[in-house]
Amino acid sequence: MAAEQETKARRGGYYGESVDFGVLYRNQRGICGICRHPVPFETFAVDHVRPTSKGGKHFAWNLQIAHKACNSRKNNKLPSHLAP
Ligand SMILES: [Zn+2]
Repeated sequence: MAAEQETKARRGGYYGESVDFGVLYRNQRGICGICRHPVPFETFAVDHVRPTSKGGKHFAWNLQIAHKACNSRKNNKLPSHLAP
């Protein structure tokens, strides 16, 4: 899953760095950055704190782990034409 997002990020061509999502998960102690509840390692998604559509970068400092459901709920708040 994490590898898929990494590939998608690169294909999108937006500016960023290669982020180790396993490290990200450990640094955030497996806590969802949106609802603050634990999220299983097998199912976590990676969320841009500042959306790339609003100028956020794909760097570790702008990334947080989240439940897939939380992540898509957040994304749904954005106008669809701005979604990455
Ligand atoms: Zn959550």
